[in-house]
Amino acid sequence: MEERGFTTRALRTEVELGDARSVSVPIYQTATFSFDDPEGLADTIRRGKDAGFVYSRWHNPTRAALEQVVADLERGERAVSFSSGMAAISTTLAALLRTGDHAVSSPSLYGGAFSVMTKLLPRWGIEATIADSHRVEDMVVALRDDTKVCYTETIGNPNVPVADLEALAKACGERGVLLVVDNTFASPYLCNPLALGADVVVHSTTKYLGGHHDLTGGIAVGGHDVLGRIREMSVDLGGIAAPLDAWLVLRGVQTLALRMERHTENGLALAQMLEAHEKVERAWYPGLASHPDHELAGRILPRGAGGMMSFELTGGLDAGRRFQEALEVALVAASLGGTHTLATHPPTVTHTQLTPEERLALGISDGLIRVSVGIEDQADILEDFERALEKA
Ligand code: PLP
Repeated sequence: MEERGFTTRALRTEVELGDARSVSVPIYQTATFSFDDPEGLADTIRRGKDAGFVYSRWHNPTRAALEQVVADLERGERAVSFSSGMAAISTTLAALLRTGDHAVSSPSLYGGAFSVMTKLLPRWGIEATIADSHRVEDMVVALRDDTKVCYTETIGNPNVPVADLEALAKACGERGVLLVVDNTFASPYLCNPLALGADVVVHSTTKYLGGHHDLTGGIAVGGHDVLGRIREMSVDLGGIAAPLDAWLVLRGVQTLALRMERHTENGLALAQMLEAHEKVERAWYPGLASHPDHELAGRILPRGAGGMMSFELTGGLDAGRRFQEALEVALVAASLGGTHTLATHPPTVTHTQLTPEERLALGISDGLIRVSVGIEDQADILEDFERALEKA
């Protein structure tokens, strides 16, 4: 046979791998998968979207590896990975709610999730009641006969309230309400909401699971049936994780325990320093005895309170600006949960979707700074914050 043309040859990369066994999961950077015969493809499609690898929006081996690992770490049966935390949250809610249903949500949510509750769900004819607080009593009082989903965060935004997931799961279970928990701030190392009775856990893998500020992703985890519904919706809405991003999360979770221990050590030390400082009106960290949920945190987060905290400067908005300008080790940046210490100003960054009145009702004052403590050397973080406070 005549030699095939250049481009035909360029398209055939038959690399002989022999019996090479890659320790790292390969990145299956492909949109689609080929079959030896047409009947094989037709048969795989007939057997369902999980039966084999056909098309990457349905299923991809790198994503499947990530989903298997995170499902296990979260004590779930199954997971679906997404292109962002918001894709995980919105797809989960779209899968579990339909027009005419009612949902209950904590008010202490990430601004994007709060916006889905208050703006997007009503457009789909789904009423969402925002509870008066993150506390279990206020969430339970808002449940109704037609409530289908209750939504909260393990550790809320930005004043880090802790949810009594055990009590909430019990109340939801008795009423046939599905409890969906955003476990982003805690990570599966500090808390497993499914083991406490929740039905679905969602994460922004952009944060602790990825852990290095280098990707955007999300994941939903739970039992086979409920995750089956979320998976169907993920195929239809299409906000699935790209293979490279899935691989970066897979690499990130390998060091999750080590990082969370360091975040927690650094977090406690910084919170204690801030609490004692004269320029700080109030420090919020569940690991401090002064936090309203300190005792609850001991139960829900037995390995420690992690790296998220907020504090209020005595000088308000101007002090907040001067403080951020003076930081040298910590970076002024949105996001959280990675190796680098990040400081943000919730009124102008994470909670811009809220009105000033809504912000104040959540305790978000003009002088509030939210900190995601990184894994830098503790002495350097403390020195950086002490110096910036002097200039605030
Ligand atoms: N959940 C929490 C608690 C968050 O803080 C964020 C983003 O900051 C999200 C969800 C949304 O995640 P993503 O930015 O990956 O869409």
